[in-house]
Amino acid sequence: MTDRTRVSRYFARYEVLRGSGVRTWDDLPGSVRRALTSVCRAADVLRHEIGLPLTVVSGYRDPGANRKAEGVPKSQHLLGLALDLRPAGPRENVLHLYDLADRLMRTKQIPCGGLACYSLDDPRDAEDHGRPRFCHVDIRGRNQRFKRKQLRRARAWFDRLAVAS
Ligand SMILES: [Zn+2]
Repeated sequence: MTDRTRVSRYFARYEVLRGSGVRTWDDLPGSVRRALTSVCRAADVLRHEIGLPLTVVSGYRDPGANRKAEGVPKSQHLLGLALDLRPAGPRENVLHLYDLADRLMRTKQIPCGGLACYSLDDPRDAEDHGRPRFCHVDIRGRNQRFKRKQLRRARAWFDRLAVAS
């Protein structure tokens, strides 16, 4: 059943529970429900500022779902503190979202946390290599930036795109 109850202004329960391994919101521990509410409120600010719908690629994950997603063992997704987000529109918007989240965390307009930009890794595909896929945002309480290589690849992809157009 699709639970369309809002977690925050822009995000509904079913969106943060898709692929989570948990069937309903009520099955979640209270700490996870509170964490998801906080990270969705942070994502509301991103959604508002970027002015584009954000698809939740991955939200909460129970341990089984985290293994399936090849998440790190101490993933913030296990705590409900992380969302993987993809903005609507062209893929360069993923980079815009990353830069926006980075700025808002540094200026404390959203809680401090982790950020990563995931990008395609296929050196044989000259066109798509480095194409941004989604942005990981978590509110762990201190600023950390991960997957720098994937971010560099995404920026190089964007630069090639800019030259080509
Ligand atoms: Zn993530």
